[in-house]
Amino acid sequence: MAEKTVFTPDVKFVRELKEAGADTMKKCYQCATCSVICPLSPDDKPFPRKEMVMAQWGLKDELVKSADIWLCHNCNDCSKYCPRGAKPGDVLSILRKSVIQENAFPKFMGKIAGDPKNIWQALAIPVVFFLIVLGVTGHLYIPEGEVVFSKFFPVHYIDQIFVPLSGLAVLMFGISITRFWKNLGESSQVKPKAGFLPSFIETLKEIMTHSKFKKCDENQDRSIAHMLVFYGFIGLFITTLCAILFLYGFKWESPYPVDDPDILALFGGSETMAWIVKAAFKLLANVSSVALLVGGSLVIANRLKERGVETVTSSFDWVFAGVVLLVGATGMLSQMFRVMNFPPVIAYLTYFLHLVFVFYIIIYVPYSKLAHFVYRTVAITYTKMLQRDVKV
Ligand code: SF4
Ligand code: SF4
Repeated sequence: MAEKTVFTPDVKFVRELKEAGADTMKKCYQCATCSVICPLSPDDKPFPRKEMVMAQWGLKDELVKSADIWLCHNCNDCSKYCPRGAKPGDVLSILRKSVIQENAFPKFMGKIAGDPKNIWQALAIPVVFFLIVLGVTGHLYIPEGEVVFSKFFPVHYIDQIFVPLSGLAVLMFGISITRFWKNLGESSQVKPKAGFLPSFIETLKEIMTHSKFKKCDENQDRSIAHMLVFYGFIGLFITTLCAILFLYGFKWESPYPVDDPDILALFGGSETMAWIVKAAFKLLANVSSVALLVGGSLVIANRLKERGVETVTSSFDWVFAGVVLLVGATGMLSQMFRVMNFPPVIAYLTYFLHLVFVFYIIIYVPYSKLAHFVYRTVAITYTKMLQRDVKV
């Protein structure tokens, strides 16, 4: 007798998906047009048709362990051609958000970041925390004279807050991703055929060049916006690491004292070399901020653009795009206000807001839309180990 497979539908999960905007999934009548259209779907067990039926049936366990939903780059080619308007591209996007929340550690953080209604509470935490720090250390006032941010919020306090905060975020992210990796392994019926390292390197190459983004017809311009945000973050990450290295590794009070004898010694006594390093550092920081700003604006513009297919942009996505934009904008404005010696109250307030948004991004990164970068990298690596993904 044939073996029976018993599925346990999760009605609560179906309700949550619908509330998150995936209500259209009920229109799907399994024609499979979407799987044929999708340029990234493998021939064997293609997506997104099977995910549509799994979502309709509330098969939460199967969906949160699926690597396939991360192979989708949300181009919406499938949604354009779906004869029923079931919006499979949007449904997969909402499923990815559910996976991030499901694997979140601790769970309540996933809930805070996952529900955009909580944005004000989420932002209030760093605001209150910074006010307490400034109050306790006697810095809760607007300094007189030339605008110097360290007079308002000393660099050492910022480092003492942000370095442990980043460590905590990395730890929580690590636990969440370990869960995800374990889930991927449980879901697969076949053993990996390729090693982790070569698969990971291939995945990184693919991500750095955004080669899969370029396969989509409908939404190709997203790759430019996405690339700008991606490289903007990487540039700012590098400059932040350099600043920490300068300050704590070389004990430079400012990253660029080119006439300091210790620094000159490091550059063989050449003030020109010291100046070049200073200029390169500044340039990277500024170019990265501009990339983040322009990329974030393009992300929003692309979402608003008429594409001949109505798509759902969840408030989860809007919050992410908005905060990315605000980090870039407040960072640039702070610098401009400092250079132009703007009224101190405006300059310091802008800087304070910048720190709040940076705090938000760091602490909520394992649960926000930004987390999809790591989840996707892990899932694509896994599918390459199974030799399942589509070659580009
Ligand atoms: S989502 Fe649309 S295209 Fe895909 S199987 Fe369902 S009805 Fe067909
Ligand atoms: S949104 Fe694009 S990548 Fe995702 S399933 Fe649809 S066609 Fe494929």
